[in-house]
Amino acid sequence: MLTVHGKGNSMNQTHKVTKDEYAMFVAYCKTLIRKLGLNDWHIAFFNTMPNGDDDIASLVIPCVQGKIAQISLNPEWPEAVTDEMTRYAAAHEICHLLLSDITTSSLYGEEIPSHVRRNIDRAEHAAVNRLVPLLLKELS
Ligand SMILES: [Zn+2]
Repeated sequence: MLTVHGKGNSMNQTHKVTKDEYAMFVAYCKTLIRKLGLNDWHIAFFNTMPNGDDDIASLVIPCVQGKIAQISLNPEWPEAVTDEMTRYAAAHEICHLLLSDITTSSLYGEEIPSHVRRNIDRAEHAAVNRLVPLLLKELS
């Protein structure tokens, strides 16, 4: 999940993601999926956000048992969507997909305390933020 910064501010100008921008996001995701060998996943792409999460730029919802994932790009951004932002969002979500077997499995079982969930999320994002710059080189 990549959070949108600047939404809900006083400017309140939003940019509607164009078909070309969305197509570019999907193409970047597919390129990274291929490069990382995540071809065993069945992925559906959406230019809508589930649950109307409008402060989120992009999101992956993986189901590791079935190797099925939903990747969403928010149709509205707080500013014009640049190629750099599109690449970043794609790399961020594909890193989450790469780690999902580990991160999702660690949340199975009994009731997981919220502080443990937060720690896992923090550790996952620390790994994602280290991997994203490496993946961005693959897209350049
Ligand atoms: Zn994230």
